[in-house]
Amino acid sequence: MSHEIAQLLEFQSIDHRLTEASERIKRLQRDRVRYEDKVVESKQSFAKKKEDLTHLEHDSLMKNLEVDELDANIRKYQHRLDTGIISFKEMEDLRAKIISERKRISEMEDEALQMMDTIVQDKEALAAAETALEQRLAELQDTLNEIDDQLRQTADSISELRDQRAALSDLMSEFLHSQYESLHKKFSDPIAAISHTTCSGCKLKLSGSTIERARGSLGIVACEHCSRILYIE
Ligand SMILES: [Zn+2]
Repeated sequence: MSHEIAQLLEFQSIDHRLTEASERIKRLQRDRVRYEDKVVESKQSFAKKKEDLTHLEHDSLMKNLEVDELDANIRKYQHRLDTGIISFKEMEDLRAKIISERKRISEMEDEALQMMDTIVQDKEALAAAETALEQRLAELQDTLNEIDDQLRQTADSISELRDQRAALSDLMSEFLHSQYESLHKKFSDPIAAISHTTCSGCKLKLSGSTIERARGSLGIVACEHCSRILYIE
């Protein structure tokens, strides 16, 4: 294999590694976004539980206040019954009101008790959820840190590869370099091996003379179909 072909293959290998590295960066960035979304989702789900509990506590307080209000009403009716000079009709009305308010109080007290039970259970569940959230966030942060490390490492290797590429292109003849660059715009593999009698790039059959010229040491030979630079393995 000629020195020039060896240089070109090295150049191509650097370009392959550069492509792999930039794909890796894209993949890592996508992963990063996915894990950041998970952080947001975990926090939101916990915040929702906390908010639900706050609403329940508020409802419970309101219910207790309502019970107190009904209780005050009953007292007021009772006082009027005990001390007021009222008609028989009014007395019947007040008694009926007292009975219905008492019934309502008893129902509401049951509801209030149930609510308070639920609040106790929800508070326990929320404390457990908070512990789980902290653990989850720590795990996610570890993963994010790992991704950031990999991103830094990949960015470092990209800049190393670019340096290598620049150094190698300085060593190559300008003609060879520009030929490679123009082929590289079209193909990820501008340098193709001759496999049996075909170009391994475009898979088309090569003429005998092309193969002969590639075997010899008379400079660079291009595929007659795709223009890739050919070499014998
Ligand atoms: Zn070809």
